[in-house]
Amino acid sequence: MSKSTDELSRRRFLAGASSLGAVYTAWNFAPLSALAPPLVDDPRIAQQPIVDKGYASIRKIGEGLYATIADRTKGLQARCNGGFLVGRDAAMLIEGLNTTIGAQMQLDTLRTVTQLPVRAAIDTHWHFDHTLGNPVYGGAGIPIWAHADVAARMSAVYGKWQTEDLATFIAPWEKRASDATTDSRRDHAQSDVRALTGMFNTVSQSILALPNHPLEPAKMPMEIDLGGLKVVIEAYDGHSGTDLILRVPDQKVVYTGDILFRGLYPVNINGDPVRWRASLAHLATFDKDTLFVPGHGQICGQEGVAEMRACFDDIAEQAEKSYNAGVPVDVASERYVIPERYKNYLQLSWGFTIGRTYQQFYAAWSGKQLPILNY
Ligand SMILES: [Zn+2]
Repeated sequence: MSKSTDELSRRRFLAGASSLGAVYTAWNFAPLSALAPPLVDDPRIAQQPIVDKGYASIRKIGEGLYATIADRTKGLQARCNGGFLVGRDAAMLIEGLNTTIGAQMQLDTLRTVTQLPVRAAIDTHWHFDHTLGNPVYGGAGIPIWAHADVAARMSAVYGKWQTEDLATFIAPWEKRASDATTDSRRDHAQSDVRALTGMFNTVSQSILALPNHPLEPAKMPMEIDLGGLKVVIEAYDGHSGTDLILRVPDQKVVYTGDILFRGLYPVNINGDPVRWRASLAHLATFDKDTLFVPGHGQICGQEGVAEMRACFDDIAEQAEKSYNAGVPVDVASERYVIPERYKNYLQLSWGFTIGRTYQQFYAAWSGKQLPILNY
């Protein structure tokens, strides 16, 4: 099939009403392995995990460094990646993950490696899939560290959801879907309804434990010595308004939180694609042998950063053409064509990836600032 024929049939496929639902389903269940192919031989990474629960596995990726890699095709108990760091004097946990089951598994696995005190558990940002397992850490007397705004953002959004019922909360989104004038618009709007419903239900069923140790971004970078293991916490911008990354410079390992995704379209509900792309450009300046543990997806090297930047470039390019042609943003974002090379990318929903990113780009190009969204 020639490229253009392929593209045409893809457009036709995307325009099909029922088939789009199938696309989202396929994305949600696409298989995911913990290691990107070029890194299989990286000597820092243990080929065998020390634990594999299906929904997540944990493996050594350096001296005292462990990565938890979630596999959503086998369950959402972890949903995001994380890990832990073990020095001579203390340990540190990374991410509260999506549930207490995931966080308990991560803590239990840490305890199979060391009995040293855990100095902190760090949430890289406020999103539910990185924080809902926090009660496990709180219950174990482990301080929870995060960007200074995380506790407030969690209570403002998730605390509010816990006082609401799903039907009322989701009604305006369902109306948007039922009011849609084309099949494609309806499918996109329904993908937003599904994503929000999933988030709302997950949060409703959980107990919130807020970080008790706020980290001021103005005081970053912050250096922590776990005993022969130096960890640097840095503040970044672009995905959630509260993003932190953890670097272990001596071993060229970085835990990026959601500043870096692998195999997913950027989820931009609370983000800013201009600042996000700048953060990614900064990651690209790290050493060429850097090992990245992304917030979601496989462990990778610089090729992972390059791929995500290229995906952002593609969205920006398509958006810019429409912007320059005077196409209104809500029409333009519906016309975005997923390139062949990203067709296997997971998409939380259309509106919270492509739609919101278009809106943000349009706003930036016309010198406006969009309001912060409370979901
Ligand atoms: Zn996130």
